[in-house]
Amino acid sequence: MPGAPVVIVGGGMSGLAAAYELCRRHVPFLLLEASATLGGVVKTERIDRFVIDAGPDALLTQKPAAIDLCRELGIGHRLRPQATRGTFLVRGGALRSLPEASVFGIPTAWSPFVTTRAFSLRGKLRMAAEYVLPGRPAAGDESIASFMGRRFGREAVEYLADPLLAGIHGGDAERLSMRALFPRFLDMERRYGSLIRGFRAGMRGRTGPAAAPFVAPIGGLCEMVEALVAALPRESCRTGVRVDGIEAIGHGGFRVHDAAGNTMTADAVLLATPPRIIAPIVRTFDPALAGACARIPSVSVVTAALAYPRRAVKNPLNGTGVVVPRSEGMGISAVTWVSSKWEGRAPSDHVLLRAYLGGARDPGAIDLSTDAILARAHRDVGRLLGIIGEPVLARVYRWPHANAQQEVGHLGLMAQIDDRLSAHSGLFISAAGFRGSGIADCVADGRRQATAAAVIVPQRLTA
Ligand SMILES: Cc1cc2nc3c(=O)[nH]c(=O)nc-3n(C[C@H](O)[C@H](O)[C@H](O)COP(=O)(O)OP(=O)(O)OC[C@H]3O[C@@H](n4cnc5c(N)ncnc54)[C@H](O)[C@@H]3O)c2cc1C
Repeated sequence: MPGAPVVIVGGGMSGLAAAYELCRRHVPFLLLEASATLGGVVKTERIDRFVIDAGPDALLTQKPAAIDLCRELGIGHRLRPQATRGTFLVRGGALRSLPEASVFGIPTAWSPFVTTRAFSLRGKLRMAAEYVLPGRPAAGDESIASFMGRRFGREAVEYLADPLLAGIHGGDAERLSMRALFPRFLDMERRYGSLIRGFRAGMRGRTGPAAAPFVAPIGGLCEMVEALVAALPRESCRTGVRVDGIEAIGHGGFRVHDAAGNTMTADAVLLATPPRIIAPIVRTFDPALAGACARIPSVSVVTAALAYPRRAVKNPLNGTGVVVPRSEGMGISAVTWVSSKWEGRAPSDHVLLRAYLGGARDPGAIDLSTDAILARAHRDVGRLLGIIGEPVLARVYRWPHANAQQEVGHLGLMAQIDDRLSAHSGLFISAAGFRGSGIADCVADGRRQATAAAVIVPQRLTA
């Protein structure tokens, strides 16, 4: 099989963003994707009049790379802000609203914090003490639980750090790295001595309502994948090609091998698959690089979409959803109120909900039968939201090993990976779990690595 100046392995958001950047720079490339479709974990199903994002469903506005890309692709006008605010958490089996003026539950104003029933009086006093607690940044990396416990006390670990900060990564607060995932919090501690002070300083002088924290294309995140694919030359993307190894060739450049026994040559290779997939691809090429990639663990998550007639749901669903601390002993870790958050996702007389299961807290959930997952999700969601009757639509989506975990020490591991990469001119790595985790990170890093690959190619061609 003939090659291309750049071969991209993996057609998720990282690989597609890289391909788009190469295309923009007129650098020929070949993108090889193992499955039959492009987009990776981004998948949207349209069933009856429901629009269901099976994997990711939102773009973070604080990190603009993905939103900027949507605008470049001509779909900026399709983005809608999240329509509701306010998150709930479960405490003692009941829904408690987190203070509106908060960032991940960390108070930015006092009065809503005083009245919330999400925390005990003792827990609130300990959390409020953060304001005066001297900043003592740890010398090295520390876990989310260690940081939040040190600053806000144990209750904040149980009710905020684990279900919210670690929960969005499907991870364990005792293991995830503060430095890799929340460097902004550490900067605030260093700069202001306190996160509450830092967040309050950030709010000062702000007038009017804050911008929505998330946006999404009105027809679901697949719109982004469709726009990317439409922007790329059709012959440059091949699906159904599973890459299983790379090797260096004498004059510089690489041979890329696929599982069907085909070989392609490339001046540069950009690996855009999860860390645990990259490890075997580079094992014979660079065992140390493979070893470092293999040390980035991943967790499996499950999402269950459930739709009900609106009249069957007692809760008015004014908000974005509910997170469930593990001490509550429920089968789900969160449920988001999709039809409240996003316009156009369900007929007006129905509601669409999405329950999350699995992750580090329940690794066995991915292996449950579809019926067992649905029974668990329906039971917990029904109990929390006061639902009578059965769902009119129910779907289960399994995401095996989909969330790579940036654990304590991750930045040290990344330094080793970057060190190995610097020994191989023309080899690049970009995927969730390396230099970021969300779509915005994947888009930014995919484009950055493609830009670096675009510099290599003309050098090789003229060498
Ligand atoms: C359930 C869930 C919800 C999420 N929610 C959000 C959210 O709301 N907002 C957000 O910003 N982020 C969210 N994320 C994270 C976000 O989806 C990911 O960061 C991002 O989509 C990962 O893109 P990627 O291209 O790095 O990896 P992937 O999407 O995993 O793509 C990798 C691609 O490589 C292909 N591949 C694998 N092996 C090979 C091989 N040997 N050869 C060729 N191809 C191969 C795969 O088939 C796949 O298409 C969520 C993730 C999950 C799982």
